[in-house]
Amino acid sequence: MTAEIVSVGTELLLGQIVDTHAPVMARILAECGIGCTRRTTIGDNWDRLVSALKEALERADVLITIGGLGPTVDDLTRDAIAAALGDELEKVPEMEAKLREFFSSRNIRWTESIARQAEKPTSARLIDNPNGTAPGLLCEKNGKIVIGLPGPKGEFDPMAYGPVKDYLETIQGAGVIHSRTLRIIGMGESHVEERVRALMDAENPTVAPYAHTGEVHLRITARAATREDADRMLDPLEDEIRRALGHHLYGTDETTLEAAVIAMLKERGETIAVAESMTGGELAARLTAVPGASAAVVGGAVAYSVAAKQAALGVDSALLASAGPVSGEVAEAMALGAQRAFGSTYALAITGNAGPTADAGDRPIGLTFIALATPNGVTVQEQRYRGLREDIRRRATQQALATLRQ
Ligand code: ATP
Ligand code: MG
Repeated sequence: MTAEIVSVGTELLLGQIVDTHAPVMARILAECGIGCTRRTTIGDNWDRLVSALKEALERADVLITIGGLGPTVDDLTRDAIAAALGDELEKVPEMEAKLREFFSSRNIRWTESIARQAEKPTSARLIDNPNGTAPGLLCEKNGKIVIGLPGPKGEFDPMAYGPVKDYLETIQGAGVIHSRTLRIIGMGESHVEERVRALMDAENPTVAPYAHTGEVHLRITARAATREDADRMLDPLEDEIRRALGHHLYGTDETTLEAAVIAMLKERGETIAVAESMTGGELAARLTAVPGASAAVVGGAVAYSVAAKQAALGVDSALLASAGPVSGEVAEAMALGAQRAFGSTYALAITGNAGPTADAGDRPIGLTFIALATPNGVTVQEQRYRGLREDIRRRATQQALATLRQ
């Protein structure tokens, strides 16, 4: 069983609004065990819309349209669904009565364009829309299913998560497609793939890697009759991947690296402070964004200028002059200064040059020093990152957090 989604609206093609509904629909389809094989975006143009719907119906069993069900002339989807299915449009008298009552109770003058929302393709049932005027459409014809949903979020969401999901779940034998995300740090995409290569040829469950800035995700997906069956297939696969990747695998699904770090510190009863130059507080912001961070995060200093490194963290001025602010020596002194000032178990310090130009001391873009002060001494690492300023800052905070977990 396959499905296609057609999002309708010229504003989507112009980039004026972002299509947030189609991904929601795709996830619902997956949860119902229906593979979404294609997503299309079409403007408010009759010929192109009708042919897109017809083509989708030739390929897929289920077609879902989003938007264009309203009363204005550019709302073409209802008529286009009828045309694609070879249906006529017919008036639903109860629906028209409901609309007339709705508009007269609000003293809005009735127009014939409003009445269009009381029409439906002959093979369609109406899906109730308690949050708007245009009902959704559900057509079953010649072994195909077409579902038409309205564009406004307040109408789309309740309909998609409610009656549409309920209906899709009843489609015989569909089952579920369930995914889990395994989150990996400190290892590039190709090295991750190398270690799990043998698992990637299976058809069910599947394993697929995705590169993100400073981390790699492995999506594991099972197709099964029920969610419980899918979990039973994914559990041993996850165990096997954990064995292959060791401490590099830091969390699953929505667990962020900072959340994993805070959880680890809390469990051990340890605390952390930060001293940031290049990242300007990004590390502190990420750590403190985790609910319950106060049990592990003591505080930090953003020491951006040379003078601030001296004043806030007690970094020696002679050292700053001789080694330069972007140096392993200064990173070490910043970490020790933060550990001393905040009385924490650990302190992480970051200094570097994020670009876009080489800095005054002629240090290249991307050169970064990360220091970790522990109760047993300080370690310093030198990194050379590539990418945009924001990528370099992100990679530095990622690496600093990863260092704590090693
Ligand atoms: P209306 O009765 O309001 O005209 P409609 O079903 O005709 O509803 P559209 O006219 O296509 O829907 O879109 C109405 C609004 O819904 C858009 O301005 C936009 O804000 C939002 N919208 C439409 N499609 C999408 C989408 N795919 N993703 C996110 N928002 C959307
Ligand atoms: Mg509209």
